[in-house]
Amino acid sequence: MTETSSPTVYGYPRQGPDRELKKAIEGHWAGRVTERDLLDVAAGLRAGNWRHLTEAGVREVPTGDFSLYDHVLDTTVMVGAVPPRHRAVVAAEGPLAGYFAMARGTQDVAPLEMTKWFDTNYHYLVPELGPDTVFAADPAKQVGELREAVALGHTARPVLVGPVTYLLLAKPAPGADPAFEPIGLLDRLLPVYAEVLAALRAAGAEWVQFDEPALAQDRDRAVLDAAAHAYRELGALTDRPKVLVAGYFDRLGDALPVLARAPIEGLGLDFTGPAAANLEDLARAGGLPGKRLIAGVVDGRNVWINDLGGSLATLATLLGLAGRVDVAPSCSLLHVPIDLGLEHGLDPRVGRWLAFARQKVAEVVTLATGLSEGTGAIAGRLAANRDDLASREASALTHDPEVRARAAAVVPADTRRPQPYGERAAAQRARLGLPDLPTTTIGSFPQTGQLRAARADLRAGRIDQDAYDELIASEIRSVLVFQERAGIDVLVHGEPERNDMVQYFAERLNGYLATQHGWVQSYGTRYVRPPILAGDVSRPGPMTLRWTTYAQSQTGRPVKGMLTGPVTMLAWSFVRDDQPQAETARQVALALRDEVADLEASGIAVIQVDEPALRETLPLRAADRPAYLAWATEAFRLATSGVRADTQIHTHMCYAEFGEILAAIDDLDADVISLEAARSHMRVADELAGAGYPREVGPGVYDIHSPRVPDAEEVAALLRKGLGGIPAGRLWVNPDCGLKTRGWGEVRVSLDNMVAAARVVRAEAG
Ligand SMILES: [Zn+2]
Repeated sequence: MTETSSPTVYGYPRQGPDRELKKAIEGHWAGRVTERDLLDVAAGLRAGNWRHLTEAGVREVPTGDFSLYDHVLDTTVMVGAVPPRHRAVVAAEGPLAGYFAMARGTQDVAPLEMTKWFDTNYHYLVPELGPDTVFAADPAKQVGELREAVALGHTARPVLVGPVTYLLLAKPAPGADPAFEPIGLLDRLLPVYAEVLAALRAAGAEWVQFDEPALAQDRDRAVLDAAAHAYRELGALTDRPKVLVAGYFDRLGDALPVLARAPIEGLGLDFTGPAAANLEDLARAGGLPGKRLIAGVVDGRNVWINDLGGSLATLATLLGLAGRVDVAPSCSLLHVPIDLGLEHGLDPRVGRWLAFARQKVAEVVTLATGLSEGTGAIAGRLAANRDDLASREASALTHDPEVRARAAAVVPADTRRPQPYGERAAAQRARLGLPDLPTTTIGSFPQTGQLRAARADLRAGRIDQDAYDELIASEIRSVLVFQERAGIDVLVHGEPERNDMVQYFAERLNGYLATQHGWVQSYGTRYVRPPILAGDVSRPGPMTLRWTTYAQSQTGRPVKGMLTGPVTMLAWSFVRDDQPQAETARQVALALRDEVADLEASGIAVIQVDEPALRETLPLRAADRPAYLAWATEAFRLATSGVRADTQIHTHMCYAEFGEILAAIDDLDADVISLEAARSHMRVADELAGAGYPREVGPGVYDIHSPRVPDAEEVAALLRKGLGGIPAGRLWVNPDCGLKTRGWGEVRVSLDNMVAAARVVRAEAG
């Protein structure tokens, strides 16, 4: 007989139901909220989360998952790895000011770099470690939050970023050898973790959880040995709580037997999506006899209800493989909105298919009850769940016969432009008459406060649609006049009508839903409200035609049509899980294909379809990447291949490290691609040239992420570098991203300098 199964979670949304945390932190930054008041708000939110979890039936709550900014940054503080430049701020202004200096920088010191937390849309602050790094334990936050929970009467399990993942997420500190590998610091770091464990034990922790999602990626033998070493050392400590290690976001693969054999007391495994393979791998590794398994059977990253019957079957199998099986979401609930109950505008037919954090907690409680007491104890909930799933399956929203028939009828010829690139390039040259080194921008222009205010006024009914439209039209005119005066060759309308590059289209496509309170942390105090891609996707009418054709009517130069590509439309949404993503992407692509056709028929000669998410959505495991890249590139081509030879297709990506997807970029078959390159000094151009990339490229010549204005000579030098690999007829001149977040002052000067540089280098080349 196994022990009773318990429900648990690894972490809960931090922001509070009304984003109280964001408001308190930003108020503190603005000097309106004292440090004391901010910390009180934070403590109140933690207490509220624990109370909710306990009332829902969770008997062991997580601590330490809460953060004022980022849990990896908290770990940096915990191990004493605060970089020297931020220590000065700590010394002068105190720990909290130092913490926010690491997160956001100050006038004098740069912040830590920020990057994506695995393949989620959450961003963490990258630790900076070097051969000289000295670690020192600072368990105050972990111990303090545990004490808070205990004082409130809870049984709590501190959750920490594990030492192996922490080191693997770090980068070499400034000044260190770029080839330095932080994982080499493991033996220096382990005593710090040992000290933290002892402190948590003294504060009353029975269990401590180490999160090691980095072990759910492909890892070589050296890293697997490091993981084995780490948990052998930590397991051998005498003065410590019981330890469990959680891996999530994918299967643990070769790391699973390593962790299963380690002298620790439990494992947390993900059994959703591709991580379902953990089940077989666990059986093959001999299970976890006598140990605790936390089974992540409820998807912690998506918003759909669980198939409770299916999960119970998985859990029943797992009962034979471990001493005790507890039930949890697959990962921290940080990645989903807090409560479906806050949504009053949702179609109730769809609402019953959705589960946000609060609803997912109820699901794991139900599953644990079913596992402990038998399905009879949850018969009512199982029946309701079956009804909900069936209603989704049968819904006209998820099964639009017209959309399905059209997607099924796609043939390979629909995903290939009929003419080879050479023929297209000649036709486009004849139609567009562009000079060598043509100049353009990526799409958006600065969004002024006036525009944001007008959008709010329109929503609140303070102005009518006509007044709003007139403002948009005049904004477009002024952006066009500016570009013509600056001498830019291919113009954009500047996107003043768009709130966000995914949301704007989601609001105009069938199959997408918007939430009112579905906020999810992107980083720090930045929250996003991803649309929910719930049903079959179709386009009720043109989405961008009006403003693009209006812009084209105001100028003799070509204006680019601007669309967001199918992969990005999925990546920055919650995507349905009841069909393969490839199928969903194909539906979005077909809707975009119609938009492309409408733009072309209205005389638009250049159409850009942005795919900034193509690389960031790469599966964590290399074995899964070819299949992903195949459907991702096919969806892009399906959206863009229906055009004539003389219509020029552009795409844009927001990064320079695209080496691993170079073949996929080629496979997009876009006539022109613009990429980030300013910060990597046109290495992009070299790489593309070296790989024999045959089409036109626009490696960014200035970094829009910085307010710094480049002078013309600096841009010219970059262009000359670019010409070393790419001939003038195929090299475009553009900034490296959209200008939405920049100020008009710097944009004006930067673009003037960019055009001047293109003229100088064009003259030299001619
Ligand atoms: Zn970009």
